[in-house]
Amino acid sequence: MIKKIQYNTCGLLLSLLALGSGSLSADSMSEPVLEPLSEPFIVTSIKPLAIIAQSAVGDQARVEYLLPDNQSPHDFSLPVSALKKIASAELVVWIGPGFETRSAKTMAKLPPSKLITAMDQIDPLAGDAAVAAGSHSKAMSADPHLWLDPDYGNAIAAEIQARLGLPIRQIIGQDEIQALRASMAASQDKTYLSHHDAYDHFVRAFELPAGLSLRDARGSVKGVQSQYQLRKTIMASNISCIFVEPQYQGKDAAAVAAEFALPLVALDPQGLSQPLNHEAYSQFIGSLVAQFKACFQ
Ligand SMILES: [Zn+2]
Repeated sequence: MIKKIQYNTCGLLLSLLALGSGSLSADSMSEPVLEPLSEPFIVTSIKPLAIIAQSAVGDQARVEYLLPDNQSPHDFSLPVSALKKIASAELVVWIGPGFETRSAKTMAKLPPSKLITAMDQIDPLAGDAAVAAGSHSKAMSADPHLWLDPDYGNAIAAEIQARLGLPIRQIIGQDEIQALRASMAASQDKTYLSHHDAYDHFVRAFELPAGLSLRDARGSVKGVQSQYQLRKTIMASNISCIFVEPQYQGKDAAAVAAEFALPLVALDPQGLSQPLNHEAYSQFIGSLVAQFKACFQ
């Protein structure tokens, strides 16, 4: 009881001090009285965009992402906690209405100055205008996993830097991209089977043949006819491995691996194991290249 009274008195004293001085560091107290001067807060829908954002801003901003690591971004609905984060953020970054479909209404309500739509940074035809016009341009037919092309990563980073008034600099250098591409040149006659159709941008950027996938670009199971066709194609292709992604169960991948005696190789396109740091994006792309090489070896 006595302890509690002392605490309350102390809290009152701190509040009075804070009123007087206008700032206070509440280091020894359990309850901070005033918020410290905060750096800009960036919220991204998915982890790969947080990897890009953190690499773009270094320690000039705080970065968080909304999608829990165990969920697929293709069928994610924003919980109340996410709405609070979006409200308190200076900048919100998402792929676009064709990807985080269930977040589209929330994002549409944000002021344009607060929102970066990654699809709009890549190609104007890939964004809302093309969706409205029913366009089927090359960009529209491409898959929404934009973060897997390092040039797109640099483009999204540049927009984040511009919005925060930071100098524009690449988060993965052209020399580095070229070296990674060269390191996979020996694998150009090989292909792979992935869980879902997510690697169009990656294989184009690194000049690899397009792979096959068990599921479509949204992670949905294909029809019986497609599955029959897929098995015929597998037999006719030089497939090195089947990729399994950490956020999916991978039962269908394991079944096909057993059926065709192919190895399973882990692939982490969401960067779930990638720490958020200043070099996060270049480390993430480097890891993906290493995972593809593990398949092709
Ligand atoms: Zn996906």
